[in-house]
Amino acid sequence: MLPEISPDKPVFRCRKNILSSDAMKPQNLLQPRPAGLYCPPGDFYIDPVRPVERAMITHGHADHARAGHGHVLATRETLDIMELRYGAGFAASRQPIGYGEPLQQDGVTVSFHPAGHVLGSAQIAVEKNGLRIVASGDYKRHPDATCAPFEPVRCDVFITEATFGLPVFVHPDPMSEIRRLTASLTQFPERAHILGAYSLGKAQRVISLLRAAGHDAPILIHGALEKLCHYYQEQGIDLGELEPATVEEGIEDRAAGRVVVAPPSVFGERWTRRFADPLNVFASGWMRIRQRAKQRGVELPLILSDHADWNELTATIRETEANEVWVTHGREEAIVRWCELNGIMARPLNLVGYEDEAE
Ligand SMILES: [Zn+2]
Repeated sequence: MLPEISPDKPVFRCRKNILSSDAMKPQNLLQPRPAGLYCPPGDFYIDPVRPVERAMITHGHADHARAGHGHVLATRETLDIMELRYGAGFAASRQPIGYGEPLQQDGVTVSFHPAGHVLGSAQIAVEKNGLRIVASGDYKRHPDATCAPFEPVRCDVFITEATFGLPVFVHPDPMSEIRRLTASLTQFPERAHILGAYSLGKAQRVISLLRAAGHDAPILIHGALEKLCHYYQEQGIDLGELEPATVEEGIEDRAAGRVVVAPPSVFGERWTRRFADPLNVFASGWMRIRQRAKQRGVELPLILSDHADWNELTATIRETEANEVWVTHGREEAIVRWCELNGIMARPLNLVGYEDEAE
C-alpha cells in the first residue's frame, strides 16, 4: 500500500534526494580548493600546492610535486624523482601505482595513465557512480623517447592544461629543431654551445634527440642536471656519453664545438663565461616568441615543448569524448571558447600556483 501524501512531505523532494545521491555531479567528485583540486568522497588532493594529508601527484615538476604531504600516491618514477629532489623524507608515507592499475579509495576508483610529458608523468582518472573525470596534469602528444606516450582516456569531464592554448602555438617537428643545433655545431666548431634546458624532462629529451640525430660526441652537463640524467639512464633511457661540465684547467678547449647542457638560469651568469666564445641555445616552447629569446640573449632558439600545442589540445579533447572540459593553468579563454563553438561545455578552473617553469 502506498503511503499517504501529506502537504508537508512532497514526493518530488524525496525523488530529488534519491537522484542526487545516485548520480554524481562532477563538482562533487572533484572541486578546486585553495590547496588544489580536491576529491571530497575520496578525501584526497591532486597536485596540491600546499601540504595536505593525502596527495596524488601527476609528475615530478616542482609546481605539481611539492614536499611535505602526509601520504603520496604516484608512479614509481615520480616518487623516485621527488626523493632525488627533496630527499627521502619528502612525505610521511608513499605508495607507487602502475599505469592502468585501478585502486579503490573510499568508494572512488582511481587510475593513472601515461601523459607523455616527462618520465613517470600521469593523467589521473577519478571515477564514482559511473562518472569519470580525468585530470591530465601537464601533457603532450609529440613523440618523446624519454617517456611513455600519452594515452587518451574516455571520460565525462576532461581537465586540460592550456599552457600553449592559443591557435598561434603550433609546435614544429622536434627533430627539425634539433637539426638546427647540429648544423650550428658544424658551422661553429670552435664555439661551446650552451644549451639551456629545464633539469627534469627537457634536458634529457634534448640529449635523447641529439643522439637520435646522430650526434655521438660526449655531451657536457651542468652539475644541477647530473642526478636526474643519471636516473633517466638507470631507467634504460639512452643518453649516450655524458661528462660533467666542471670548472677545471682546459675546460675551454674541452667544450669547444661541444654541447653543454645547463639550466636556463645560467644565461648571463659568470658560469657561462668560462667557456670560449659561448653560443647560447635555449630549448623551450616559448622560443616561438622572439621577444623571449631576445630578453635572455639567446642566439639559437629551439622551439621544443613538453606541453601540448593548440592542435594537440583540441584533438585530445575530442578523443576523450568528454562532454565537459575544465581548463587550467595557461590560456584558458581560447580553449573554453573553442569548446563552446564545438558544442562542449567548458569552464576555466582558476587553480593557482602552477607556473610554466618547466618550459
Ligand atoms: Zn610539468
